[in-house]
Amino acid sequence: MTEAPAVRFERIALIGIGLIGSSLARVVRRDGIAPHIAVCARTHATLDTARALGIADSTTTDPRACVDGADLVVICSPLGTYGEVARAMAPGLREGAIVTDVGSAKECAITDIGPRLPEGVHFVPGHPIAGTENSGPEAGFAELFQGRYCILTPPTGTDPTAIARVEALWRQAGMMVERMDARHHDRVLAITSHLPHLIAYTIVGTATDLADEARSEVIKFSAGGFRDFTRIAASDPVMWRDVFLNNRDAVLEMLARFTEDLTALQRAIRWGEGEVLQDHFTRTREIRRGIVEAKQA
Ligand code: NAP
Repeated sequence: MTEAPAVRFERIALIGIGLIGSSLARVVRRDGIAPHIAVCARTHATLDTARALGIADSTTTDPRACVDGADLVVICSPLGTYGEVARAMAPGLREGAIVTDVGSAKECAITDIGPRLPEGVHFVPGHPIAGTENSGPEAGFAELFQGRYCILTPPTGTDPTAIARVEALWRQAGMMVERMDARHHDRVLAITSHLPHLIAYTIVGTATDLADEARSEVIKFSAGGFRDFTRIAASDPVMWRDVFLNNRDAVLEMLARFTEDLTALQRAIRWGEGEVLQDHFTRTREIRRGIVEAKQA
């Protein structure tokens, strides 16, 4: 630690200590953001690993016990657990505590967590847009968030000090923080993250269903583009199941648009319309250039 962190908490409770939770815990340790990290997970095996890694000061499988005395609670478990986690931890929350989350969809976070929190507790939904295809406490690393964006989607009326403190936490982790309406966040992420994962899961699934002989050649010659899809399609099945179930409307809307565009390209291939294909591929190349220029490549 070289200089004092921009934000400090007395006690941080992390509900879930997988890739995201353990990466944040490492940042908290590295920068001395809080003297105590309380960790909750579903299984004792995960809690034992977190202790062995030195990223948990106290551990429990009970969300209520975990949040006891915490001034910051970060929910880092799959989206499908939000309702039950919020219900279980609510009676243990202290007056003035800040609750935030890291979930990949935000409207569901607001409906599943917000109404279950007691008066006097501030809820600031968030989404650090950083990840890998790996999961569990050992997969985390403090630099995961460096140079990436974090989107906060606080509902109107959220306490500005609570928002500022959550913002400072993610900035301390190296992120650029923006605020957005939850519904808008879910539509943007549906096209930039959720649909690409669905496509990867589909392509790899299709290849898996090929006859044995062709399948071995798919693996052998995977460098031809397929390999990148296999990396994405190796992402955590539970997390991604919950993303699709909880961002259903936005994903279905983007999927409908995508299907139309795919059909247009299919038609161009069938009718030998080279110009249509080339124009399309020229346009899409520009997006890649924009991402490289924005240093998000
Ligand atoms: P992960 O590595 O699979 O870890 C999930 C953690 O949640 C585990 O520690 C798990 O404990 C715990 N957990 C599961 N059910 C629980 C429950 N009922 N109560 C308490 N803890 C529970 O997942 P992750 O990749 O860190 O993702 C976590 C969240 O971050 C998700 O909401 C996801 O949408 C979001 N997110 C993920 C990424 C990404 O790329 N991975 C990026 C941005 C945001 P056990 O091991 O004991 O089951």
